Amino acid sequence: MATLQLHNIVKRFEGTEVIKGVDLEVNDREFVVFVGPSGCGKSTLLRMIAGLENATSGDIMIDGKRINEVGPAERGLAMVFQSYALYPHMTVEDNMGFSLKLGGVSKEERQRKVREAAAILQLEPLLERKPKALSGGQRQRVAIGRAIVRNPSIFLFDEPLSNLDAALRVQMRIELARLHEELDATMIYVTHDQIEAMTMADKIVVLQGGVVEQVGSPMELYHHPRNRFVAGFIGSPK
Ligand code: ADP
Ligand code: MG
Repeated sequence: MATLQLHNIVKRFEGTEVIKGVDLEVNDREFVVFVGPSGCGKSTLLRMIAGLENATSGDIMIDGKRINEVGPAERGLAMVFQSYALYPHMTVEDNMGFSLKLGGVSKEERQRKVREAAAILQLEPLLERKPKALSGGQRQRVAIGRAIVRNPSIFLFDEPLSNLDAALRVQMRIELARLHEELDATMIYVTHDQIEAMTMADKIVVLQGGVVEQVGSPMELYHHPRNRFVAGFIGSPK
């Protein structure tokens, strides 16, 4: 089980406040989407949850414990980025198992976990390949596989599909929804794409200028937007 709470999170970069007091509650196994225009603070918020960035003030809690000072590797989270950052000289299998290797996991155990994740992601026939011999969608699956092998209680995705073409994005959305069911994990997914937010989320968090404008289910936001920004953002296509 994994719940996440943010209490009055503020982030300043060189005196400029980019996150302006965010409160948020993510429930166990929820699929939560942060959506908002470019520069509104989505990545910064996610990076603070991941522990890659410190909050200037406020508390981050996982399962009721304050984790502000806990390092990224100890938070039980795994993050998937927009740029997949696969190691070009390593095979798919080694890319997926690398963080486990760093963590001292035995070769047999690594192999077992990688093969399990590869089966879920339909990557089994590709385990010996190098990243350059993969399509964009396959690379993205490897990046997700790297997260899965760590068995995180919370997955963090930062615009993971934005480098893929439209048809592949639709397919990957369906796969991510299936993964969410299959892995029984809490997922936080960042996008600037309203359609992704509407189709994938249990709960949408609409951000603008470092402020949460509204939190609700896709239907709540669609039918009862709290202000013009939310109405315009959720109601109109990109
Ligand atoms: P989003 O992911 O929603 O596009 P970001 O979280 O990347 O937005 O950025 C939010 C704001 O914080 C932007 O104005 C951006 O320029 C600024 N910002 C992000 N990272 C840094 C940094 N390391 N140093 C200074 N400013 C930053
Ligand atoms: Mg971003």
